[in-house]
Order: sequence, then structure tokens, then C-alpha cells
Amino acid sequence: SSQTNNLEAFWMPFTANRQFKQNPRMFVGAKDMHYTTSDGRQVLDATAGLWCCNAGHSRPKVVEAVQKQVAELDYAPAFQMGHPKAFELAARLAALMPKPLDHVFFTNSGSESVDTALKIALAYQRAIGQGTRTRLIGRERGYHGVGFGGISVGGIVSNRKTFGTMLTGVDHMRHTHDPARNAFSRGIPENGAEYAEDLIRIIQLHDPSTIAAVIVEPVAGSTGVLIPPKGYLERLRQICDDNGILLIFDEVITGFGRLGSPFATDFFGVTPDLVTTAKGITSGVIPMGAVFCASKIYEAFMTGPEHMIELFHGYTYSAHPIACAAALATLDTYEEEGLLTRASELAQYWEDGLHGLKDCPNVIDIRNLGLIGAIELTPIDGQPTKRAFSAFLKAYDDGLLIRTTGDIIALSPPLIISKTQIDEIFEKLRKVLNSID
Ligand code: PMP
Repeated sequence: SSQTNNLEAFWMPFTANRQFKQNPRMFVGAKDMHYTTSDGRQVLDATAGLWCCNAGHSRPKVVEAVQKQVAELDYAPAFQMGHPKAFELAARLAALMPKPLDHVFFTNSGSESVDTALKIALAYQRAIGQGTRTRLIGRERGYHGVGFGGISVGGIVSNRKTFGTMLTGVDHMRHTHDPARNAFSRGIPENGAEYAEDLIRIIQLHDPSTIAAVIVEPVAGSTGVLIPPKGYLERLRQICDDNGILLIFDEVITGFGRLGSPFATDFFGVTPDLVTTAKGITSGVIPMGAVFCASKIYEAFMTGPEHMIELFHGYTYSAHPIACAAALATLDTYEEEGLLTRASELAQYWEDGLHGLKDCPNVIDIRNLGLIGAIELTPIDGQPTKRAFSAFLKAYDDGLLIRTTGDIIALSPPLIISKTQIDEIFEKLRKVLNSID
């Protein structure tokens, strides 16, 4: 319409190489596995929105719970006051998370969860008399949101270089991705423990008693689906334990069933000291996040020598009643439909379908775990995102929503997906990949 030509004056979506503005595309509706576009077409969602709509779109129980809550209690202050659904949700979430990660802090996004976890880690070290531990360690190609904490520990230089001084005292471990060794490996690549030795290198650069915490995504998502090789997370855990360093898993993407268990910590059998979540906690319906930590961490600064007055932290919208209602109804939906383990039932089918695209033109790697997949394409000289972006446009025109990051197509469908819809994703992608230059 004529209106769409002027849209950019007031707001534009984030977009790879800004080509979007020449092709305004809009969703006006969503139901289960599909979006409805402004020109009335159905688009199959192979991305769960932005890795968040794990229960599918506009699920009846969630819609009803949100409507009811907004009419009943719209807001309750998060300071000094509470409301019953916040306590109920905290208990439900704690029961879902492996012991001893049973204390919850509520936030409103993944970026806020990351800042919160880093602050808790630093406060805990101080509360137990380890106040010299102020350094933080992230990883190359790590994505932890867009707050100053997240871009400081995050491993994407271009996301931080424009914004002045970052948190000081941050180092980045090498990432675990080695296409020369692992291209087209299915699921978890072999032999990964040695990648974790890079943490030893960093510890040796400093006095270990200056390091507070290490943060990693168990599976790096936004930078192109990098699967941790076998033994890697276990070895990180061991090195952290040996050196009094806290381990934080950023499960904003892997949380709430993406890998086929409630959290990646269950999937890999490695228990960190803190876990950050967001996205799937409300299945994308309302912004919310949560950070989990062991009670010993919580209690140390609530009752220890550095009393809670030292830890001023919390948001106006922490444990927002509407978000809590949405999260409780989302958890009901996950549990009633077995969605938190559904990815494990579909993982092999998904893997076989995805790797069936191996021989399509320009495909240089395929990676998968649970219901996550990535197809890496050969870059075009000088325009590194052009080919994947063309695939995005073609797929969209053919009724399929995919996500691209650099030269990588990333897939993460809602966990309610059927086998027929999995087939549809890969049939459409085959056509798309065969038709782009
Ligand atoms: N951490 C990870 C691992 C993420 O994938 C993301 C978002 N893609 C974030 C943090 C930031 O979340 P948000 O965009 O909700 O702030």
C-alpha cells in the first residue's frame, strides 16, 4: 500500500544489510505453526519467531490466561510487594530445573537475564570473601544480548566496537567450531575436551583468584548454531571447579525444550552455577526472562557478611503479573503436550531431513541438535550475507520463514511441528537452495 513507503521514517525492524526496507514484509496474524502475512498468505514458521515461540503461536490456554490476568491484576510493584502467581511460577520453574538451581530472579529479556547473572556472580564472590574475583570470561562467537554486560562478554566484536568502553577485565575463550574437522558431523561432534583447555590459557594470563565467572551458551545459537564437541562442557565445569570460578550457562535459546530436554543442563548432564533464560519461558507471548542459581548463591548475599543492601538489583517489571500468567499457561501447555521432550522424539527425523540437503549447491556445512539446525553457505566475495539473504527472500515468497545470520541459515521450529511440516521445510529449502546463484 502507499502507506508502507513511508514506514521507515518512524521505525524499522533490525535486518541483515537493510534490504528489508525495499521489501516491507508484515505479519498480521499467527496461529500454531503459521504466520499470516499482510497480503493474506500463510507462512510456515521454521524459526519459532526469534527462537522463542516454542509452544507455537497464539495457543488457546495462553491467550485465555493473559486476557484473564490483564482484567484481574494488571501490575504489582516488584519492590516490597509480590503477587501469588510470581511465587507459583518461581516454584514451578525451580521444580523444572535440576538441583541445586532452585532460586529464581525474574527479568524481562535475555539481555537482562545476562546482566543479572553476571551481577549475581560478582556479588556472590564478594559475599563469600572472594572480592578480588572481578574478571569475567566469555567466548568468541558468543551472543549474550545487547546490554553492556552482554556485549562485553559476548564474542562478536562488531556488536561492541561502536559503543565505547566495555566492562573491563573480560577475556574471550576460543570458540569450538572447526569446519575442517567437523563439517557435516551429525549432532554432537567428537572429541571436544581439548577446546576447553583455552580456559586454562586465560587463567594462566591472570591470577586465578581474580576470575569470577565464565559464561557460555551451551549451543551457540545466534552466531550460527555451534554445537559443543563431546566432553567440552564437562571439562569447562571441571576447570571452573578447580579454580573457584562460577560457570554460567546462557540458555536463552536452549532452554524450554529446544534440545529435547527442559534445559541444556539436563541434556548435557553438566550443572552450571547459574542459568539464564528468556524467550521460551512465555513462548514469546510477553517479554520475560529468569535467572536460576543455587540457594547457596542466593543465601550468601541475603544472609552473609555482604548483606542484601549491597545487592540492589531488580526491574520495575520483574515478575510482571501478565508475564507470570503467560508463563504459567505456557508451562501447562508444554507439560500437557509433552513439548519439553518432543524435540528428542523428532531429533533423528529432523537430522535426516536436514542432512538430506547436503548436496544442494553452495552448502558447505550442516549442523544440528534437538530441533535446531544450520545450513552454512559459501560466502560471495565482498558481500558475505547476500546468498543467505536471497534464500530468506525466496523462502518467504514460497511460504517459509527461515532466519539467516551471516552466510548461515538457522532453523528452530516451534516444538509442536509435525513430521509432514518438517518434510515441507526441507522440500521448500531444497527448491530455494537449487534456485539461488
Ligand atoms: N542470550 C542468548 C543466548 C540469546 O540467543 C539472546 C537473543 N537471541 C539473548 C541472550 C538476548 O535476548 P534478548 O534479545 O531477549 O535480550
